[in-house]
Amino acid sequence: MKLESLRSEICSLNQQLLQNDLVAWTSGNVSGRDKKSGLLVIKPSGIRYEELTPRKMVVVDLDGKVVEGDYKPSSDTFAHVYVYRHRPDVHGVVHTHSCFATAWAAAGRSIPPILTAICDEFGGAIPLGAYAKIGGDEIGREIIRSIGESPAILMKNHGVFTIGVSPEAAVKTAVMVEDAARTAFYAFHLGTPDEIPADEVARAHRRYVEEYGQ
Ligand SMILES: [Zn+2]
Repeated sequence: MKLESLRSEICSLNQQLLQNDLVAWTSGNVSGRDKKSGLLVIKPSGIRYEELTPRKMVVVDLDGKVVEGDYKPSSDTFAHVYVYRHRPDVHGVVHTHSCFATAWAAAGRSIPPILTAICDEFGGAIPLGAYAKIGGDEIGREIIRSIGESPAILMKNHGVFTIGVSPEAAVKTAVMVEDAARTAFYAFHLGTPDEIPADEVARAHRRYVEEYGQ
């Protein structure tokens, strides 16, 4: 079996979407890119999270063609491969319909930098991408067109895509998007929160990227 350790990692990260309450039933998916071969491992289509095993993961190439696997890959595979083809820095992609973030996407609203956590994680507003059809290249094109420097994007009337230098980083960002979206939702219900000024957003983001953690 190809890419055994990446298969295990992607299987467990997919299950973490469910554990973090970011997905319902079979929606959502995580993929990762193997640095050596350039191949991707992605969740199979329509299989319950509880039933996922490393063996059930699907290995695809950068055109979305199945290289190894007993199941069809996720129906969002073409969005994932488009992102990997156009962002060599990206080694993990996550898609969810997590509740609060997707409410912002449905309302057609980006999430402004009203929290220090948004400055830290996203370096500015969490951007909104235009509506794009599911299944082909359209979603991937719109992600690349609109995501900019952000590790996450809300896709209008749909949900969230996050990207990362690793699959785990992309999953962490998916958790942080939902957390920020929930707080921002309540903040806008209490009043009109002030945005953090652009120079302070940039300073906070730089500090977080360069100094935070162990
Ligand atoms: Zn979706």
